[in-house]
Amino acid sequence: MPGLEDLYREIILDHYRTPRNRGELPVPPARHAEGHNPLCGDEITVYLDVDDASGTVADVKVSGQGCSISQSSASMMSQAVKGKSVPEVKALVRKFKGMMSIETADGADDGDDSAGDGPEVTLGDLEALQGVVKFPVRIKCATLAWNTLTEALDAPASDS
Ligand code: ZN
Repeated sequence: MPGLEDLYREIILDHYRTPRNRGELPVPPARHAEGHNPLCGDEITVYLDVDDASGTVADVKVSGQGCSISQSSASMMSQAVKGKSVPEVKALVRKFKGMMSIETADGADDGDDSAGDGPEVTLGDLEALQGVVKFPVRIKCATLAWNTLTEALDAPASDS
């Protein structure tokens, strides 16, 4: 069994103790999506304020509760996507889920993790979550915020 220190890296614990971008945004104008991981009881709501003029994530907030992996991943996600363009955010989601994919039956992803036509993005601190892959049951904890983010991106934009 892999050591727990791989799972609970210092930066992960830091984000769990001091979550970034915690809170809510008024909907509308923000859009939001709720994610739920029944395996672990994690719940995450992602609020997204996309500036239509520039096409960038002007603000992002996360609320919810759950295990340290789900909550720190959400915190790190919020920090990573804020200020990025929507194509960059989508590229980041792809890259992160690529890092997290072992033989999950989640399918859908076409295994095209080599950026392809998407913008170049780096995972940076998010690589700390790579240790989660050694604990397959926790992968859904780590990806919950990212799946919810994708849903929020695809949520109907408000008028404005
Ligand atoms: Zn969890």
